[in-house]
Amino acid sequence: MSRTILVLADLRNGAVRNVTFEMLSAAKRLANGGTVIASIISNNGSTIDTAALAHYGADKVLVADDAQFENYVPDAYAAVLDAMIKEVNPNLVLMSHSAIGRDLAPKVAARFAAGQVSDIIDVTEDGGNLVFTRPIYAGKAFTKNTVAGEIVFATVRPNNLTAGEPDVSRSADKEVKVWAELSADSLRTFIKEVVKKSTGGVDLSEAKIIVSGGRGVKSQEGFKPLYDLAEVLGAAVGASRGACDADYCDYALQIGQTGKVVTPDLYFAVGISGAIQHLAGMSNSKVIVAINKDPEAPIFKVADYGIVGDLFDIVPILTEELKKV
Ligand code: FAD
Repeated sequence: MSRTILVLADLRNGAVRNVTFEMLSAAKRLANGGTVIASIISNNGSTIDTAALAHYGADKVLVADDAQFENYVPDAYAAVLDAMIKEVNPNLVLMSHSAIGRDLAPKVAARFAAGQVSDIIDVTEDGGNLVFTRPIYAGKAFTKNTVAGEIVFATVRPNNLTAGEPDVSRSADKEVKVWAELSADSLRTFIKEVVKKSTGGVDLSEAKIIVSGGRGVKSQEGFKPLYDLAEVLGAAVGASRGACDADYCDYALQIGQTGKVVTPDLYFAVGISGAIQHLAGMSNSKVIVAINKDPEAPIFKVADYGIVGDLFDIVPILTEELKKV
């Protein structure tokens, strides 16, 4: 069965995030010869390079470009996406399980009286139906869901669907227009100020390697060896809530049930006990390395590699050895 699939590009500071390519690759596979459409909603939408979107599977790119899309304004984004959906009539709408996707997907799905699946990590086909896999119980189990209806919405956890090899011979038509008249009266919320918190150079939710610290790090200064290790590895730095609550680092770094959900190739849990709420955010990492002085710490149950010892001895040794590689 061929399908029309609309993928909302996930943008950060005008750049297309990798999860977009992961969604487009999946869309290309699931379209079965149908049409894959990428959607860009941005204050600099016309200048974003759309070639890569085509390389990963987009046949067409719909662009909304307006100064008011500098920040996420729910009513504005919903109105534009609504108009794009009405124009292309997709069977499936994919967006990233980001702060925006989590808010926008149900809002727009409700407008179409459509079903929605959140935080999917896989999507396959079974007898013409799409089967979505999503983790439940803090990642301890997985459900497979099918959704009835003409149109289905899904939000996609980054780093789980595989971005295929880009086909640089592909190109896509681009349509830039005003998709919805957005008067100030029609918008019930607007942004007055944005206070940005930095998590360092590497984006935590898209990082391939994360070095994460817990209460065992003991202080803000205690994070220094973790930042040194992260720099050598080109990794992002994360944290447990224990470390954030103790004010060793900013809450922007928190990973877990009430923090960010990450799926890197390599996750270092340093001085983290491995509470279920922390595991909810990182247990799907491909390889987990735990460093903890307590051999009974629960983190070792999910770790692929465990080092029992004092992190302040081990982390600097690791950093020095990795510098030699
Ligand atoms: P601890 O449990 O105190 O563990 C510290 C570890 O460091 C210990 O295992 C210790 O052996 C080790 N250690 C100490 N010194 C050293 C050293 N020198 N060298 C090596 N190892 C050392 N937690 C999250 O992380 N993310 C969440 O999103 C989250 N959400 C929550 C939501 C709810 C509703 C609730 C109730 C809790 C939530 N928590 C969350 C908190 C969670 O239950 C734990 O309290 C928290 O994860 C513990 O953080 P920690 O592992 O850093 O600290």
